[in-house]
Amino acid sequence: MLVVKKFGGSSVADKERIFNVANIVTEEYRKGNDVVVVLSAMGKTTNNLIAMAEDINPKAPKREMDMLLATGEQVSVALLAMALHSMGIPSISLNAFQVAMHTTSTYSNAKFKRIDSERIMNELDQRKIVIVTGFQGINKNDDLTTLGRGGSDTTAVALAAALHADECEIYTDVEGVYTADPRVVPDSRKLKEITYDEMLELATLGAKVLHNRSVELAKKFGVQLVVRSSLVEAEGTVVLEEAKMESMLVSGVAVDKNAARIAIVGVKDEPGVAFKIFNMLAKANINVDIILQGIGRDGTKDISFTVPEDQLDDALAVLDENKGRFDAQKIEHDAGVAKLSIVGAGMQTHPGVAAGMFEALYNVGVNIRMIGTSEIRVTILINEDDCDKAMRAVHAKFFS
Ligand code: ASP
Ligand code: MG
Repeated sequence: MLVVKKFGGSSVADKERIFNVANIVTEEYRKGNDVVVVLSAMGKTTNNLIAMAEDINPKAPKREMDMLLATGEQVSVALLAMALHSMGIPSISLNAFQVAMHTTSTYSNAKFKRIDSERIMNELDQRKIVIVTGFQGINKNDDLTTLGRGGSDTTAVALAAALHADECEIYTDVEGVYTADPRVVPDSRKLKEITYDEMLELATLGAKVLHNRSVELAKKFGVQLVVRSSLVEAEGTVVLEEAKMESMLVSGVAVDKNAARIAIVGVKDEPGVAFKIFNMLAKANINVDIILQGIGRDGTKDISFTVPEDQLDDALAVLDENKGRFDAQKIEHDAGVAKLSIVGAGMQTHPGVAAGMFEALYNVGVNIRMIGTSEIRVTILINEDDCDKAMRAVHAKFFS
C-alpha cells in the first residue's frame, strides 16, 4: 500500500513535534507500506519570511518572494529526514525541483500541471520514506513557485493522485473538520464525513482546515482524504464523494473575514456593463464572489460585489485604471465586512434553510448586507464586528 501523509506547520513546529511525526510515519513504514510525507514549513516560518521580505522591500518581486518562501519547507523536510536517520529509518528529503513538480508560472499562486513520479518511485523501491516539500513547484523556467498560503495540502493531494496512492491523510492540530470553528463556537462538533462539494464550499468560505484547491483536486481525481490530528489519536473526518450517512441539512458554518465589498454606483443601465467590469477583474485574477445588481432607475444602476480583502487594492486599481470604459458616478468600498456561510448537501431537498439562518440573525440583531446562494450554501455579508455572535447564533439554530 502507498500512503501519503501531510503534516501542517504546527505539527512540525519544534524538535519534539518533528520526532512525533517521525514516529507516526515510522509506524506506517513498519507495516510494510510505502510512505510519502509532505510537510509545511515549521510553525510560523512562512509568516516570518513574509515579514522579513516586507521589511526589506514591501513591493518585492513575486519571483523573489517565492524563492524566499520556498526555503521554509526545505528546512522542515531536511530536519525530518535527519530525525528518521537518527532512528535508523532510511529516508530522503526532496524539494519540488528534485521531484520535478511542474506548475504554471503565476508566482505566489501557481497551479500544478504535472508531477514526475519517477524519482519518488525509485526512492520508495529502495524502501526509503520519501519526504517532499509542500507548497512549492517549479515553472517552465525552472524557477521556484508557490501555490498560495496553505498550499501544502494541495501538494499532498496532487502527489496522491500522481502516485495512485491508496490513502491520503492530512494531519493537523485539530481532530478533523468541525461544524464551526471550535475557538468561536465551543459546542461545535467533529464531522465523521463530509462530501467534496461541501468541503470545497467550506474551505473556500474560510474554514481553514483544508486548502480549497486540495479539495478540488481530490474531487477531480477521486482521492479520498482523511483529516486528523497529529497530536491526539482519534478518528478524523473523511472527505469523500458521497456521504454514507444521510446528508445533513447543514454540515458547517464558516466565516471569512478576508472579505471586502465594492459598490460601483450609477453605471449606465445597458448591455455589456457587467461584462466589462467583471471581465477586467477576471483578467487581473481577482476572485469576485457575491454579486448584487440593483434595479435600474433613470437609466443608471448600481453593481456591488465582494472580493477577498487582500485583493481589494488590486481590484480598486484595476477599476480606477479602466474607469473610462464603464462610466460610473462613483466607486465605494468597505473592508469591514465578513462573509458568513452555511453549507449542506441536504439543502437541495429541504426548503427553509435560508429562512432559518435569517431568523437566527434577526434574533441577535445582525443586519444582512448582501446574500448569495448556491445549491448547497447560503452566504451572507455582515459587518465584521458581528461575526462571532452571528456565527454562534446560526450554529445554535442548526446544531442544538
Ligand atoms: N507554509 C505555507 C503556508 O504557511 C504552506 C502551508 O503551510 O501549507 O502558507
Ligand atoms: Mg493548512
